[in-house]
Amino acid sequence: MSHTHSDHSHQHGPDCGHLSIKHNDHIDYLHAGHLHHLHEGCVEEHALEVNITNPSICTPTHACSGHDKTHVHGPNCGHAAIPHGDHIDYLVAGHLHRPHDGHCDHHGIVTITR
Ligand SMILES: [Zn+2]
Ligand SMILES: [Zn+2]
Ligand SMILES: [Zn+2]
Ligand SMILES: [Zn+2]
Ligand SMILES: [Zn+2]
Ligand SMILES: [Zn+2]
Ligand SMILES: [Zn+2]
Repeated sequence: MSHTHSDHSHQHGPDCGHLSIKHNDHIDYLHAGHLHHLHEGCVEEHALEVNITNPSICTPTHACSGHDKTHVHGPNCGHAAIPHGDHIDYLVAGHLHRPHDGHCDHHGIVTITR
């Protein structure tokens, strides 16, 4: 499910203001809930794979200091949204949260490169 944006209004780069994260052996930019990867002048859509580093698991006992227990993740919750497998996670204190059944699942660490 890789498609490209042809109507991208700006060039991602070190100074574009978007968060960049390490994905396998390259850097992706976080843009409005999408992971954008520059490839030969095109912008590809990426999602983090479900793997050992970023498992898609339920962790009902995850005690997180990253946000209040009553916090509800959503489009304007203040956390960056990151596509992971077939769902959307939220970036909290350097790791992925998936809102699930009244708690947050811990889906592993991501490396912010700036
Ligand atoms: Zn950008
Ligand atoms: Zn990528
Ligand atoms: Zn869960
Ligand atoms: Zn957490
Ligand atoms: Zn949130
Ligand atoms: Zn996830
Ligand atoms: Zn959370």
